[in-house]
Amino acid sequence: MSSGLTDLYQEVILDHSRNPKNFGAPEESNRQARGNNPLCGDRVSVYLTVEGDHINDAHFDARGCAISIASASMMTEMIKGKTVAQAKSLFDRFHALVTSDAEGEADEDLAELASLSGVRAFPTRIKCATLAWHAMSAALDGADEDVKTE
Ligand code: ZN
Repeated sequence: MSSGLTDLYQEVILDHSRNPKNFGAPEESNRQARGNNPLCGDRVSVYLTVEGDHINDAHFDARGCAISIASASMMTEMIKGKTVAQAKSLFDRFHALVTSDAEGEADEDLAELASLSGVRAFPTRIKCATLAWHAMSAALDGADEDVKTE
């Protein structure tokens, strides 16, 4: 494992992957979508409870690498209580953070997600980090179907 990849697994990522928040399918939800990242073997299901314009609850179920699980865990924590528009805006900014070549500062709203910015040096890992977000976005759009990162 290169030192770059070691840096990638910062403590915050390991914490979330070992003790993921909002993990497991909830008894109730009204939006869901699945994501599949065949490059790494990550699979994630995102379950949302959306009332009007607000995401009242968010859970996920996943099998995959530490990065995919940590990102999903952070995501469910962050989007809970947000509006649909706010959640989509977070995704846009997070996507820019992990794909941008610039060493841009993460804005404050991204908080722990900044720990995932290390993936930008590893293109295949970007898909791990964004998988749950693509699924969340699909769930919000009402597409109850598999999302592929390709
Ligand atoms: Zn992965």
